[in-house]
Amino acid sequence: MSETASPGPLVQRPQDPEELGVYVHVPFCRDRCDYCAFATYTDRDALMERYVAACVTEVTRAMQAGALWEATSVFFGGGTPSRLSAPLLAAILTAIPRTADAEVTVECNPEDASMERLCAYREAGVTRMSFGVQSTAPHVLAALGRRHDPASVPRALEAAAAAGFVLVNVDLVYGAQGETDDDWARTIDDVLSLPNPPGHVSAYALTAEPGTPIGRDRARHPDDDVQASRYELADARLSSAGYRWEEVSNWALPGQGCRHNQLYWRQGNYLGIGAAAHSHRADDAAGRRWWNLRTPERYLKAVEAGRSPVAGEERVEGDRRELERLMLSLRTPAGVPASALPDVAELDGLVVREGGRAVLTVRGRLVANAVSSMLLVGSSSSGSS
Ligand code: SF4
Repeated sequence: MSETASPGPLVQRPQDPEELGVYVHVPFCRDRCDYCAFATYTDRDALMERYVAACVTEVTRAMQAGALWEATSVFFGGGTPSRLSAPLLAAILTAIPRTADAEVTVECNPEDASMERLCAYREAGVTRMSFGVQSTAPHVLAALGRRHDPASVPRALEAAAAAGFVLVNVDLVYGAQGETDDDWARTIDDVLSLPNPPGHVSAYALTAEPGTPIGRDRARHPDDDVQASRYELADARLSSAGYRWEEVSNWALPGQGCRHNQLYWRQGNYLGIGAAAHSHRADDAAGRRWWNLRTPERYLKAVEAGRSPVAGEERVEGDRRELERLMLSLRTPAGVPASALPDVAELDGLVVREGGRAVLTVRGRLVANAVSSMLLVGSSSSGSS
């Protein structure tokens, strides 16, 4: 879309401020992983200082427009936010108004997790670290095109604990070519048996994204049955260690859930800052979504010229909005109103119905999209998901 296509949606601060998440996209990575289709670049580090200044400008303009009030959560994602020096990341965070108890997450490459960096993050107000671990098996990391050393993982979690981080996540990926059930079980056990285990684990099924090296090579595509057994293994191991699922691909110890992600799953308000960042504003009648220009160059050009970086927007209302709300809620332990799913034999073993709600079983979580396709829009009471 043209970068002059939209002046940006006018968003008014609600009279009674609701929860607001701010997502900051950092589109820089050292290397490109073979499965990655995110908006991130390995050859644009020279833009970092201008990029940070542009993000601060976008934050300032959003505040002036009433679109940004005290955030209850901030999430630096990417890309690799830890590619930015700590002072650069802190410059963006400092510009964002936050509630006193705001959750502030930074995604970090384990190899970037020096004490100096993590202490600087703490000082700047970061409260939660998320490490991209993926696997502890070197050959699996190689099959994913990841270039970090697994030995950096225990060091990163130890440094996070020493720096005072109580909330820590690790991201894992299963289903790479050459990964065995044992490799996957060992990865989970390695993470859970660390001296400083994370309170939150995200485990994602590898997907063969079009245009990526893995997407282009059928021999590297994951197998559905293997993915299903790996998921069940992850859920069993994590559940027996006291973690509870908070979304299909996310597990947390009690009190360690991710407030920012929970906002997404509730179809809440979030404001995206930076290239390719998406935003959503909810009100009673409809939801509005908008998204920024994808490349850092076009984003910078727009912001530096005093124009909006918004590339497009859409309004989501009526049945579509209700369906989205139900689909998001179905992927969490909150489930959906029981009346939102038909009472048919096909769903036996995939959902449990209790207290007027229908909640996915472990088997149901494996086929969450298929169950979603059976949702009955209009039959459930609105606002109850
Ligand atoms: S580190 Fe993350 S964002 Fe960067 S290339 Fe790898 S998967 Fe993509």
